[in-house]
Amino acid sequence: MKNGRHRQFARYVAPLCITRGKGFRLADFDPADTAGLKSADKAEAKEALARGVEWLTEQQDMLYAQDHWAVLLVFQAMDAAGKDSTIKHVTSGINPQGCSVTSFKQPSSEELDHDYLWRYMRNVPARGQIGIFNRSYYEEVLVVKVHQELLQRQKLHPSLVTRDIWKERYADIVNYERYLVRNGVLVLKFFLHLSRGEQKRRFLERLDNPAKNWKFSTADVAERAHWDEYQQAYEEAIRHTATPQAPWYVIPADNKWFTRLAVATAIVEAIGGLQLHYPVMGPAARRDLARARAQLAAGRRAGR
Ligand code: ATP
Ligand code: MG
Repeated sequence: MKNGRHRQFARYVAPLCITRGKGFRLADFDPADTAGLKSADKAEAKEALARGVEWLTEQQDMLYAQDHWAVLLVFQAMDAAGKDSTIKHVTSGINPQGCSVTSFKQPSSEELDHDYLWRYMRNVPARGQIGIFNRSYYEEVLVVKVHQELLQRQKLHPSLVTRDIWKERYADIVNYERYLVRNGVLVLKFFLHLSRGEQKRRFLERLDNPAKNWKFSTADVAERAHWDEYQQAYEEAIRHTATPQAPWYVIPADNKWFTRLAVATAIVEAIGGLQLHYPVMGPAARRDLARARAQLAAGRRAGR
């Protein structure tokens, strides 16, 4: 996997990784960017993606065997940016027992009776597992910020809802992620950065193609009217929560083939940093194995 071409892709992806949010501007990132790769490179990108997925599958096996680390992949995006299909591709080879995907929709009344991180904390992957959040606690500073009536539904005492509430939430999220990292959870956050024009094109395709009609929701068009507010909310969220321990990746999302390759490459790079390997047996464990082997062999001779 770590061949020259992968290293080249990794170099393309490196600038998309935001480890310090200060001064971050979404306008500096082009949703149509393909890091110099042309449509003609699509086939190669596809092949590289397949190799990345294969490598990830092997890594997941070691992650599980070692049982030290967990990996949390957070996906956030505007509608039709390709969260679902990116998740599908990236996880395509992974042993289902080692991976979970949780989609977060509008909170239930039970969830609203708890602090806002409650429902997310319950779904953080266990050691040895890869957990994917399709939307996440970031919705609490995105959709809830854009539609402040949602904040009213969270049953907070008015004394707690001050003008600092978003800053407080950013700080709490940063602290929470630091806590996760200190407990062995690798936290990577992906913003699939789609342009407004490409969203429109994809919505129209969903309307015009009967096989894609089911993907369309009239609510999506209503949300589109808040496009600028969402972009601003994303920019502010990334500015306040991109840290070296839990970086954001701003992934150009107008070209799906590039989105998938960029996400897979970023994951390969980050998991590669864990230097995973199968557990090495100590002398006592090796003696136990030798004894078990001898027992089995003796049983075979005795016809058992
Ligand atoms: P898709 O459209 O691809 O099926 P989706 O993630 O857009 O996937 P939907 O059921 O369309 O799923 O939308 C879920 C909605 O729930 C989104 O509009 C999202 O903003 C909203 N949501 C998620 N978390 C919260 C939250 N904490 N508070 C309020 N709304 C939330
Ligand atoms: Mg939707």
